[in-house]
Amino acid sequence: MVDQLIRATAADGGIRAVGVITTNLTEHARERHGLSYVATAALGRAMACGLLLASSMKKEGSRVNVRINGNGPLGGLLVDAGLDGTVRGYVGNPKIELPPNAQGKLDVGAAVGKDGYVYVVRDIGYGYPYSSTVELISGEIGEDIANYLVNSEQTPSALLVGVFVGAEGVVASGGILLQVMPKASRDEDLVTLLESRIQGLASFTTLLREGKTLTEIMKILLSDLGLTIFPEVQMVRFKCGCSFERMLGALKLLGVAELEDMIDKDKGAEATCHFCSQVYNANIENLQQLITELSEQKTSEQTLYLQ
Ligand code: ZN
Repeated sequence: MVDQLIRATAADGGIRAVGVITTNLTEHARERHGLSYVATAALGRAMACGLLLASSMKKEGSRVNVRINGNGPLGGLLVDAGLDGTVRGYVGNPKIELPPNAQGKLDVGAAVGKDGYVYVVRDIGYGYPYSSTVELISGEIGEDIANYLVNSEQTPSALLVGVFVGAEGVVASGGILLQVMPKASRDEDLVTLLESRIQGLASFTTLLREGKTLTEIMKILLSDLGLTIFPEVQMVRFKCGCSFERMLGALKLLGVAELEDMIDKDKGAEATCHFCSQVYNANIENLQQLITELSEQKTSEQTLYLQ
């Protein structure tokens, strides 16, 4: 099934629901970063959460960054997701592997750790990002993001994310977010009901592996509550905005002395994008060009000064 995101409402607009399938993009991240099983599950869950959080933003170009650091062996993770359905992310230690937990599942909680925080930055496109931090409660990511939504954004939320990794790679990945909107937020029964519905689902990836579509999963959860699924199906994908030119721009910031040092010692420079593991190589000519540009800048600044 192709990666996609759908939105719905229920209970006369009192409930907002979003579902996302991220199987292919999580597999793409696994291959790009060479992720272990548990690292795939951790980053996959976080990327699904990022897309679900970004889906509620309004202004074109809005993005959300989710950073989780629980002092576990995974070494933290960072996800950047957009309202446009693009997402990218990385973990500190992509190769870390742990034995399964007591339920026989990939032990994301132990890999992430729970001695730390979730940092969420929402950039709504006006240049003043809104950031917020909450303590981790389990390191399992879905639970931590739901806790963030309840405590930091004051939106009662039930969230389920999952990644199923087989020997050949990612088999199923995605998640679902149910939120009680402000007009119904005092309805305690509704909040409890949504939580119990989410808890009642076996697991998101089990449903996907059974061949259920997002629409069918929404119906299982909310069909008796006046479910309305919006017709638009949004495609989601792994995408990084890095480029050779941007890498050169970053190298330029190092300054002339450092660039000359790179030419002398390394005969060039190699840079790897954290977000997508793309490797860029700058040769001696590229570095010399940067030095020339920096010198010209200096000259024009001096000229300006003299005038
Ligand atoms: Zn990149």
